[in-house]
Amino acid sequence: MSTDVAAPVAEGTARHNPVNWLAASVLLSTPILALILVPLYAWFNDYSTAAWVSFVVLSALNGISITGGYHRLWAHRAYEAHWSLRLFFMLFGTMATQNSILVWASSHRTHHRHVDDIDHDPYSVKRGFWFSHIGWMLRHYESGKEDFRNAPDLLNDPIVMFQHKHYLPLVLLMNFGVPVAIGLMVGDLWGVVLLGGLFRLVWSHHTTFFINSLAHMWGSRPYTDENTARDNPVLALFTYGEGYHNYHHIFQYDYRNGIRWYQFDPTKWLIASMSWIGVTRNLKRCPEFAIEKAKLTMQFKQAEAKLSLQAAGHAQLEAWRAKLAQEYEHFTQVLNDWSKLKETWYAEKKEQLLHKWEEASFRTRFQEIEYRLKMQRKRLRLLTAQVAA
Ligand SMILES: [Zn+2]
Ligand SMILES: [Zn+2]
Repeated sequence: MSTDVAAPVAEGTARHNPVNWLAASVLLSTPILALILVPLYAWFNDYSTAAWVSFVVLSALNGISITGGYHRLWAHRAYEAHWSLRLFFMLFGTMATQNSILVWASSHRTHHRHVDDIDHDPYSVKRGFWFSHIGWMLRHYESGKEDFRNAPDLLNDPIVMFQHKHYLPLVLLMNFGVPVAIGLMVGDLWGVVLLGGLFRLVWSHHTTFFINSLAHMWGSRPYTDENTARDNPVLALFTYGEGYHNYHHIFQYDYRNGIRWYQFDPTKWLIASMSWIGVTRNLKRCPEFAIEKAKLTMQFKQAEAKLSLQAAGHAQLEAWRAKLAQEYEHFTQVLNDWSKLKETWYAEKKEQLLHKWEEASFRTRFQEIEYRLKMQRKRLRLLTAQVAA
Protein backbone atom coordinates (compact mmCIF):
# COMPACT_ATOMS: atom_id res chain seq x y z
CA MET A 1 0.00 0.00 0.00
CA SER A 2 1.69 3.19 -1.09
CA THR A 3 0.72 6.29 0.77
CA ASP A 4 2.04 9.73 1.38
CA VAL A 5 -0.30 10.34 4.25
CA ALA A 6 1.43 12.41 6.88
CA ALA A 7 1.13 11.92 10.60
CA PRO A 8 -2.27 13.09 11.81
CA VAL A 9 -2.36 16.73 12.74
CA ALA A 10 -5.70 18.08 13.89
CA GLU A 11 -6.92 21.58 14.43
CA GLY A 12 -6.64 21.57 18.24
CA THR A 13 -6.66 18.22 19.94
CA ALA A 14 -9.64 15.92 19.64
CA ARG A 15 -10.46 16.56 23.29
CA HIS A 16 -11.42 20.14 22.49
CA ASN A 17 -13.96 19.09 19.92
CA PRO A 18 -17.32 18.12 21.40
CA VAL A 19 -18.62 14.62 20.70
CA ASN A 20 -21.44 14.37 18.18
CA TRP A 21 -23.51 12.05 20.37
CA LEU A 22 -26.20 11.14 17.85
CA ALA A 23 -23.76 10.21 15.07
CA ALA A 24 -21.31 8.57 17.48
CA SER A 25 -23.92 6.37 19.10
CA VAL A 26 -25.31 5.20 15.74
CA LEU A 27 -21.89 4.69 14.11
CA LEU A 28 -20.36 2.86 17.07
CA SER A 29 -23.33 0.82 18.29
CA THR A 30 -24.50 -0.60 14.94
CA PRO A 31 -21.24 -2.47 14.05
CA ILE A 32 -20.99 -3.87 17.60
CA LEU A 33 -24.61 -5.02 17.55
CA ALA A 34 -24.17 -6.52 14.06
CA LEU A 35 -21.02 -8.41 15.10
CA ILE A 36 -22.85 -9.97 18.03
CA LEU A 37 -26.41 -10.44 16.80
CA VAL A 38 -25.91 -11.53 13.17
CA PRO A 39 -23.76 -14.66 13.97
CA LEU A 40 -25.70 -15.35 17.17
CA TYR A 41 -28.98 -15.57 15.26
CA ALA A 42 -27.34 -17.84 12.66
CA TRP A 43 -26.21 -20.15 15.49
CA PHE A 44 -29.79 -20.76 16.62
CA ASN A 45 -31.76 -20.22 13.40
CA ASP A 46 -30.78 -20.40 9.76
CA TYR A 47 -31.24 -17.27 7.71
CA SER A 48 -33.76 -17.75 4.93
CA THR A 49 -32.73 -17.15 1.33
CA ALA A 50 -35.15 -14.22 1.36
CA ALA A 51 -33.16 -12.62 4.21
CA TRP A 52 -29.93 -12.87 2.19
CA VAL A 53 -31.69 -11.52 -0.90
CA SER A 54 -32.97 -8.57 1.17
CA PHE A 55 -29.37 -7.86 2.24
CA VAL A 56 -28.04 -7.89 -1.33
CA VAL A 57 -30.90 -5.93 -2.87
CA LEU A 58 -31.21 -3.30 -0.13
CA SER A 59 -27.38 -2.84 -0.04
CA ALA A 60 -27.39 -2.28 -3.78
CA LEU A 61 -30.32 0.16 -3.62
CA ASN A 62 -28.63 2.11 -0.80
CA GLY A 63 -25.23 2.07 -2.50
CA ILE A 64 -26.44 3.19 -5.89
CA SER A 65 -28.62 5.92 -4.33
CA ILE A 66 -25.55 7.33 -2.61
CA THR A 67 -23.28 7.08 -5.67
CA GLY A 68 -25.82 7.92 -8.37
CA GLY A 69 -27.96 10.29 -6.29
CA TYR A 70 -26.14 11.92 -3.37
CA HIS A 71 -22.79 11.97 -5.14
CA ARG A 72 -22.96 12.30 -8.92
CA LEU A 73 -26.41 13.93 -9.20
CA TRP A 74 -26.70 16.25 -6.18
CA ALA A 75 -23.11 16.94 -5.13
CA HIS A 76 -21.65 17.25 -8.64
CA ARG A 77 -24.61 17.92 -10.94
CA ALA A 78 -23.04 15.52 -13.45
CA TYR A 79 -26.45 14.93 -15.08
CA GLU A 80 -30.15 15.70 -14.65
CA ALA A 81 -32.79 13.24 -13.51
CA HIS A 82 -36.58 12.93 -13.66
CA TRP A 83 -38.31 13.54 -10.30
CA SER A 84 -39.25 9.87 -10.00
CA LEU A 85 -35.58 8.82 -9.98
CA ARG A 86 -34.70 11.67 -7.61
CA LEU A 87 -37.44 10.54 -5.22
CA PHE A 88 -36.15 6.96 -5.41
CA PHE A 89 -32.55 8.09 -4.72
CA MET A 90 -33.77 10.29 -1.87
CA LEU A 91 -35.64 7.42 -0.15
CA PHE A 92 -32.94 4.76 -0.50
CA GLY A 93 -30.18 7.29 0.16
CA THR A 94 -31.99 8.14 3.41
CA MET A 95 -31.95 4.42 4.24
CA ALA A 96 -28.12 4.44 3.95
CA THR A 97 -28.15 6.91 6.89
CA GLN A 98 -25.29 9.20 5.90
CA ASN A 99 -27.01 12.48 6.78
CA SER A 100 -29.32 14.51 4.54
CA ILE A 101 -28.52 15.17 0.89
CA LEU A 102 -28.02 18.86 1.68
CA VAL A 103 -25.42 18.23 4.40
CA TRP A 104 -23.72 15.38 2.53
CA ALA A 105 -23.45 17.13 -0.85
CA SER A 106 -22.41 20.47 0.62
CA SER A 107 -19.59 18.92 2.67
CA HIS A 108 -18.56 16.82 -0.33
CA ARG A 109 -18.24 19.97 -2.44
CA THR A 110 -15.99 21.36 0.30
CA HIS A 111 -13.96 18.13 0.21
CA HIS A 112 -13.31 18.60 -3.52
CA ARG A 113 -12.52 22.25 -3.16
CA HIS A 114 -10.08 21.84 -0.25
CA VAL A 115 -8.99 18.25 -0.75
CA ASP A 116 -6.21 17.17 1.67
CA ASP A 117 -6.24 20.51 3.50
CA ILE A 118 -6.27 19.56 7.19
CA ASP A 119 -8.12 22.71 8.22
CA HIS A 120 -10.78 22.85 5.51
CA ASP A 121 -11.30 19.38 4.01
CA PRO A 122 -14.03 17.81 6.24
CA TYR A 123 -12.46 14.35 5.88
CA SER A 124 -8.85 14.99 4.99
CA VAL A 125 -6.81 11.79 4.77
CA LYS A 126 -3.81 13.80 5.94
CA ARG A 127 -5.33 13.46 9.40
CA GLY A 128 -5.03 9.70 9.24
CA PHE A 129 -7.07 6.68 8.15
CA TRP A 130 -9.40 6.66 11.18
CA PHE A 131 -10.27 10.34 10.88
CA SER A 132 -11.02 10.22 7.15
CA HIS A 133 -12.97 6.96 7.48
CA ILE A 134 -15.22 7.69 10.43
CA GLY A 135 -13.53 9.93 13.02
CA TRP A 136 -14.65 13.13 11.29
CA MET A 137 -18.28 12.27 12.07
CA LEU A 138 -17.80 11.34 15.73
CA ARG A 139 -17.01 14.87 16.92
CA HIS A 140 -17.94 18.38 15.84
CA TYR A 141 -14.82 19.65 14.06
CA GLU A 142 -14.29 23.14 12.72
CA SER A 143 -13.42 21.62 9.31
CA GLY A 144 -16.81 19.89 9.23
CA LYS A 145 -18.91 22.92 10.07
CA GLU A 146 -22.08 23.11 7.99
CA ASP A 147 -22.03 25.94 5.49
CA PHE A 148 -24.62 25.76 2.74
CA ARG A 149 -23.35 28.77 0.81
CA ASN A 150 -21.87 26.33 -1.70
CA ALA A 151 -25.26 24.70 -2.30
CA PRO A 152 -27.83 27.33 -3.36
CA ASP A 153 -29.15 24.89 -5.98
CA LEU A 154 -29.92 22.31 -3.29
CA LEU A 155 -31.59 24.85 -1.03
CA ASN A 156 -34.06 25.36 -3.88
CA ASP A 157 -34.65 21.69 -4.58
CA PRO A 158 -38.00 20.59 -3.07
CA ILE A 159 -37.06 16.90 -2.75
CA VAL A 160 -33.74 17.76 -1.08
CA MET A 161 -35.37 20.20 1.33
CA PHE A 162 -38.26 17.85 2.16
CA GLN A 163 -35.74 15.18 3.13
CA HIS A 164 -33.62 17.66 5.12
CA LYS A 165 -36.65 18.82 7.13
CA HIS A 166 -38.01 15.35 7.86
CA TYR A 167 -34.72 13.46 7.97
CA LEU A 168 -35.11 11.60 11.26
CA PRO A 169 -38.62 10.18 10.72
CA LEU A 170 -37.60 9.20 7.17
CA VAL A 171 -34.49 7.39 8.46
CA LEU A 172 -36.60 5.48 10.99
CA LEU A 173 -39.25 4.64 8.41
CA MET A 174 -36.71 3.35 5.86
CA ASN A 175 -34.53 1.48 8.38
CA PHE A 176 -37.25 -0.10 10.52
CA GLY A 177 -40.45 0.13 8.47
CA VAL A 178 -39.06 -1.34 5.23
CA PRO A 179 -37.17 -4.34 6.73
CA VAL A 180 -40.08 -5.17 9.06
CA ALA A 181 -42.56 -5.01 6.15
CA ILE A 182 -40.34 -7.24 3.96
CA GLY A 183 -39.71 -9.62 6.89
CA LEU A 184 -43.44 -10.04 7.53
CA MET A 185 -44.09 -10.50 3.83
CA VAL A 186 -41.55 -13.29 3.37
CA GLY A 187 -42.17 -14.89 6.77
CA ASP A 188 -38.68 -14.30 8.23
CA LEU A 189 -39.05 -11.15 10.31
CA TRP A 190 -35.87 -11.42 12.38
CA GLY A 191 -33.76 -12.73 9.52
CA VAL A 192 -34.63 -9.74 7.33
CA VAL A 193 -34.35 -7.23 10.20
CA LEU A 194 -30.85 -8.50 11.02
CA LEU A 195 -29.46 -8.99 7.48
CA GLY A 196 -31.48 -6.53 5.40
CA GLY A 197 -31.70 -4.03 8.26
CA LEU A 198 -28.74 -4.04 10.63
CA PHE A 199 -25.99 -5.78 8.65
CA ARG A 200 -26.95 -3.91 5.47
CA LEU A 201 -26.66 -0.57 7.29
CA VAL A 202 -23.17 -1.32 8.64
CA TRP A 203 -22.02 -2.72 5.29
CA SER A 204 -23.24 0.26 3.28
CA HIS A 205 -21.75 2.67 5.82
CA HIS A 206 -18.25 1.28 5.68
CA THR A 207 -18.08 0.57 1.96
CA THR A 208 -18.99 4.23 1.33
CA PHE A 209 -16.58 5.44 4.02
CA PHE A 210 -13.74 3.61 2.25
CA ILE A 211 -13.99 6.21 -0.52
CA ASN A 212 -12.91 8.91 1.90
CA SER A 213 -10.21 6.77 3.52
CA LEU A 214 -8.80 3.96 1.35
CA ALA A 215 -9.50 5.65 -2.00
CA HIS A 216 -7.20 8.44 -0.82
CA MET A 217 -4.43 6.01 0.22
CA TRP A 218 -4.36 2.82 -1.82
CA GLY A 219 -4.10 2.65 -5.62
CA SER A 220 -2.59 4.39 -8.61
CA ARG A 221 -2.58 8.00 -9.77
CA PRO A 222 -2.81 7.95 -13.57
CA TYR A 223 -4.37 11.42 -13.98
CA THR A 224 -2.92 13.67 -11.30
CA ASP A 225 -0.59 13.55 -8.32
CA GLU A 226 -1.71 16.92 -7.03
CA ASN A 227 -3.98 15.30 -4.46
CA THR A 228 -4.09 11.98 -2.59
CA ALA A 229 -7.03 10.47 -4.54
CA ARG A 230 -6.34 7.03 -6.09
CA ASP A 231 -7.78 4.78 -8.77
CA ASN A 232 -8.47 1.37 -7.31
CA PRO A 233 -10.41 -1.31 -9.24
CA VAL A 234 -10.81 -3.47 -6.11
CA LEU A 235 -12.57 -0.67 -4.24
CA ALA A 236 -14.73 -0.01 -7.31
CA LEU A 237 -16.22 -3.51 -6.87
CA PHE A 238 -17.60 -2.64 -3.43
CA THR A 239 -18.60 0.92 -4.16
CA TYR A 240 -20.60 0.68 -7.39
CA GLY A 241 -17.78 2.21 -9.41
CA GLU A 242 -16.54 4.94 -7.09
CA GLY A 243 -13.08 3.39 -6.74
CA TYR A 244 -11.80 5.38 -9.72
CA HIS A 245 -11.27 8.28 -7.40
CA ASN A 246 -8.13 9.75 -8.97
CA TYR A 247 -10.08 10.31 -12.20
CA HIS A 248 -13.03 11.62 -10.22
CA HIS A 249 -11.05 14.25 -8.34
CA ILE A 250 -9.65 15.83 -11.50
CA PHE A 251 -12.81 15.47 -13.62
CA GLN A 252 -15.49 15.74 -10.94
CA TYR A 253 -18.30 16.88 -13.26
CA ASP A 254 -18.08 13.72 -15.37
CA TYR A 255 -21.01 11.36 -14.69
CA ARG A 256 -18.54 8.48 -15.08
CA ASN A 257 -15.82 7.46 -12.63
CA GLY A 258 -14.55 4.41 -14.50
CA ILE A 259 -14.33 5.74 -18.05
CA ARG A 260 -13.21 2.61 -19.91
CA TRP A 261 -15.75 -0.07 -20.87
CA TYR A 262 -13.92 -2.71 -18.84
CA GLN A 263 -13.86 -0.62 -15.66
CA PHE A 264 -16.54 -1.67 -13.17
CA ASP A 265 -18.83 1.31 -12.79
CA PRO A 266 -22.48 0.19 -12.41
CA THR A 267 -23.48 3.72 -11.36
CA LYS A 268 -22.37 4.95 -14.79
CA TRP A 269 -24.21 2.07 -16.49
CA LEU A 270 -27.40 2.93 -14.60
CA ILE A 271 -27.22 6.66 -15.42
CA ALA A 272 -26.45 5.95 -19.10
CA SER A 273 -29.17 3.32 -19.53
CA MET A 274 -31.73 5.57 -17.84
CA SER A 275 -30.92 8.23 -20.45
CA TRP A 276 -32.12 5.87 -23.21
CA ILE A 277 -35.65 6.04 -21.79
CA GLY A 278 -35.47 9.74 -20.95
CA VAL A 279 -35.25 9.41 -17.15
CA THR A 280 -31.78 11.02 -17.07
CA ARG A 281 -30.42 13.66 -19.44
CA ASN A 282 -27.58 16.11 -20.08
CA LEU A 283 -24.97 13.57 -19.03
CA LYS A 284 -21.66 15.42 -18.70
CA ARG A 285 -18.41 13.93 -19.95
CA CYS A 286 -14.99 15.54 -19.79
CA PRO A 287 -13.42 16.01 -23.21
CA GLU A 288 -11.21 13.12 -24.33
CA PHE A 289 -8.42 15.58 -25.09
CA ALA A 290 -8.28 16.86 -21.49
CA ILE A 291 -8.15 13.26 -20.24
CA GLU A 292 -5.32 12.33 -22.62
CA LYS A 293 -3.46 15.49 -21.68
CA ALA A 294 -3.70 14.71 -17.95
CA LYS A 295 -2.48 11.15 -18.49
CA LEU A 296 0.47 12.27 -20.63
CA THR A 297 1.49 14.90 -18.10
CA MET A 298 1.62 12.15 -15.45
CA GLN A 299 3.61 9.88 -17.78
CA PHE A 300 6.19 12.60 -18.34
CA LYS A 301 6.52 13.03 -14.60
CA GLN A 302 7.02 9.29 -14.12
CA ALA A 303 9.57 9.06 -16.94
CA GLU A 304 11.54 11.98 -15.49
CA ALA A 305 11.45 10.44 -12.01
CA LYS A 306 12.80 7.15 -13.40
CA LEU A 307 15.54 8.90 -15.35
CA SER A 308 16.65 10.80 -12.28
CA LEU A 309 17.18 7.47 -10.50
CA GLN A 310 19.67 6.20 -13.11
CA ALA A 311 23.39 6.12 -12.31
CA ALA A 312 25.23 9.19 -13.64
CA GLY A 313 27.53 7.33 -16.03
CA HIS A 314 24.87 5.06 -17.59
CA ALA A 315 25.66 4.52 -21.27
CA GLN A 316 22.10 5.20 -22.45
CA LEU A 317 21.34 8.08 -20.12
CA GLU A 318 22.02 10.92 -22.55
CA ALA A 319 20.15 9.19 -25.36
CA TRP A 320 17.10 8.69 -23.12
CA ARG A 321 17.22 12.28 -21.94
CA ALA A 322 17.38 13.54 -25.52
CA LYS A 323 14.46 11.31 -26.51
CA LEU A 324 12.38 12.50 -23.58
CA ALA A 325 13.12 16.16 -24.36
CA GLN A 326 12.11 15.55 -27.97
CA GLU A 327 8.85 13.90 -26.87
CA TYR A 328 8.14 16.81 -24.56
CA GLU A 329 8.63 19.26 -27.40
CA HIS A 330 6.23 17.22 -29.50
CA PHE A 331 3.70 17.29 -26.63
CA THR A 332 3.91 21.10 -26.39
CA GLN A 333 3.45 21.29 -30.15
CA VAL A 334 0.30 19.14 -30.02
CA LEU A 335 -1.13 21.30 -27.22
CA ASN A 336 -0.46 24.42 -29.31
CA ASP A 337 -2.09 22.90 -32.37
CA TRP A 338 -5.13 22.06 -30.26
CA SER A 339 -5.50 25.59 -28.87
CA LYS A 340 -5.15 27.10 -32.34
CA LEU A 341 -7.75 24.77 -33.81
CA LYS A 342 -10.09 25.51 -30.91
CA GLU A 343 -9.66 29.27 -31.43
CA THR A 344 -10.48 29.03 -35.13
CA TRP A 345 -13.47 26.85 -34.38
CA TYR A 346 -14.85 29.30 -31.80
CA ALA A 347 -14.27 32.27 -34.09
CA GLU A 348 -16.05 30.63 -37.02
CA LYS A 349 -18.86 29.45 -34.79
CA LYS A 350 -19.35 32.96 -33.46
CA GLU A 351 -19.55 34.36 -36.97
CA GLN A 352 -21.97 31.57 -37.81
CA LEU A 353 -19.87 30.68 -40.79
CA LEU A 354 -19.92 26.97 -40.14
CA HIS A 355 -21.87 24.66 -42.40
CA LYS A 356 -22.61 21.10 -41.42
CA TRP A 357 -19.79 19.66 -43.53
CA GLU A 358 -17.36 22.15 -42.00
CA GLU A 359 -18.37 21.06 -38.48
CA ALA A 360 -17.58 17.52 -39.54
CA SER A 361 -14.20 18.53 -40.88
CA PHE A 362 -13.38 20.27 -37.59
CA ARG A 363 -14.38 17.16 -35.69
CA THR A 364 -12.00 15.07 -37.77
CA ARG A 365 -9.16 17.52 -37.14
CA PHE A 366 -9.81 17.43 -33.38
CA GLN A 367 -9.83 13.65 -33.48
CA GLU A 368 -6.53 13.63 -35.36
CA ILE A 369 -4.89 15.66 -32.60
CA GLU A 370 -6.35 13.36 -29.93
CA TYR A 371 -4.91 10.44 -31.85
CA ARG A 372 -1.46 12.04 -31.85
CA LEU A 373 -1.62 12.23 -28.05
CA LYS A 374 -2.67 8.59 -27.83
CA MET A 375 0.24 7.53 -30.01
CA GLN A 376 2.59 9.58 -27.94
CA ARG A 377 1.41 7.90 -24.77
CA LYS A 378 2.32 4.55 -26.30
CA ARG A 379 5.82 5.75 -27.27
CA LEU A 380 6.38 7.21 -23.84
CA ARG A 381 5.33 3.97 -22.16
CA LEU A 382 7.90 2.08 -24.26
CA LEU A 383 10.60 4.61 -23.47
CA THR A 384 9.86 4.45 -19.71
CA ALA A 385 9.97 0.63 -19.82
CA GLN A 386 13.43 0.82 -21.44
CA VAL A 387 14.67 3.14 -18.71
CA ALA A 388 13.48 0.71 -16.06
CA ALA A 389 15.45 -2.16 -17.60
ZN1 LIG B 1 -12.18 12.26 -2.34
ZN1 LIG C 1 -17.00 13.67 -5.58
